[in-house]
Amino acid sequence: MPAQLIDGKAISAKVREEVAADVRHLIDTTGVEPHLVAVLVGDDPASAIYVRGKQKACEKAGIRSTLHRLPAETTQQQLTDLVQQLNADATVHGILVQLPLPDQIDPVAIIDAVAPEKDVDCFHPENVGLMVQGRPRFLPCTPHGCQRLLIESDVETSGKHAVVLGRSEIVGKPMALLLMQRGLAADATVTVCHSRTRDLAEQVRQADILVAAIGRPKFVTADMVKPGAVVIDVGINRVDDGIVGDVDFEPVREIASAITPVPGGVGPMTIAVLLQNTLKAARLLAEQSAG
Ligand code: NDP
Repeated sequence: MPAQLIDGKAISAKVREEVAADVRHLIDTTGVEPHLVAVLVGDDPASAIYVRGKQKACEKAGIRSTLHRLPAETTQQQLTDLVQQLNADATVHGILVQLPLPDQIDPVAIIDAVAPEKDVDCFHPENVGLMVQGRPRFLPCTPHGCQRLLIESDVETSGKHAVVLGRSEIVGKPMALLLMQRGLAADATVTVCHSRTRDLAEQVRQADILVAAIGRPKFVTADMVKPGAVVIDVGINRVDDGIVGDVDFEPVREIASAITPVPGGVGPMTIAVLLQNTLKAARLLAEQSAG
């Protein structure tokens, strides 16, 4: 029997409705309108599509959204100045600097420059530290989106062996951290694989839950998947005939018990969690000014 399809579109719609209701409540009770500012530097077409998607989702959820578009030749200082101006602006709750940035700009310095209270991507070291210690301010968008998919699909993770393929700061590393922590969609025994992993296929085959985030089209083949595994495919790879994930979807679907499609799996969840984080940032500010 082919695997159950984990429908990220439907699950993200549910999360977005929850956010929209909470946004209305926040506005009614405090007058604070959550506001996300996106900063897009240069003209990478994929980045422009991502930012547009995030803006549209904000608007639908009742979150105000503003876009700052800067030219490709923007300097580090100019971008830092803009970030500092947004940090100081009390009407701005979330700041999102779309990555990747042009070569002349150091992304780490920009991540560090964003006020932690407005870092809705959860990239700032203060927020990463809080997350690692199990007392998060914000949750990392893509990894927590994957967790929510597991929760909504009633996937038991406690005591299971989770394998995370990829160790990036944005996806793989925080994903592994969340899965090993106590709590919902967590409590797993986690293995992290990367480009230096030996016997990678053998490691991946141990997974009860597999999260693939390496950016290699159809890398995970059916022979690498344990029968009955739950497969979460984070990859977004542009190939000649469209977009594919890191998992060879059709054959793996015959073996797994549940699987996310690409597109329509993890992608929409990333945006939904971004909205949750923006709402949280606005709420924290409202509480601060009330208290
Ligand atoms: P990075 O390129 O930053 O990291 C890729 C990771 O995969 C690295 O840890 C790398 O190992 C590892 N890797 C690469 N090739 C191999 C290989 N052949 N075998 C084993 N490990 C390998 O990518 P991201 O984490 O940012 O993104 C991963 C994928 O997820 C991309 O397709 C991206 O587009 C997608 N993505 C999707 C999102 C969504 O919302 N759905 C959000 C963010 C990303 P090493 O560290 O050793 O180099």
